[in-house]
Amino acid sequence: MRVDFIRIKEEPSEFELLLKESRFKLTLTNHRDNLVLLRGALTGRLDVECFRCGSDFEIDLDENFEFLLSCGVYVGGDQGLDVVEQFDQQIDLDGIFSSEIELIRSDYHSCLECS
Ligand SMILES: [Zn+2]
Repeated sequence: MRVDFIRIKEEPSEFELLLKESRFKLTLTNHRDNLVLLRGALTGRLDVECFRCGSDFEIDLDENFEFLLSCGVYVGGDQGLDVVEQFDQQIDLDGIFSSEIELIRSDYHSCLECS
């Protein structure tokens, strides 16, 4: 799902994405300086690989995060939150969702037998 930056107003807009058994709920709110504030939560379940034995297993997801989205290259100062650049005047929610999932996947997880 892609959302035009221009659609995001001061009133939070809610979105929900599903990927297999993972659910990504988020709100987008207009922020100062050409930025949009993303507040999101990842819930559901995710397949990961045990870093010891390599077997696949599922974990419960419960992640909250908050960061800013910049329409194009970000040149402003420190906002106290991470700034993620988005291009083509659009917010790529699918891309953000899958990169958050990949971040969690790339953590060290160990299965029941190995922990
Ligand atoms: Zn294992």
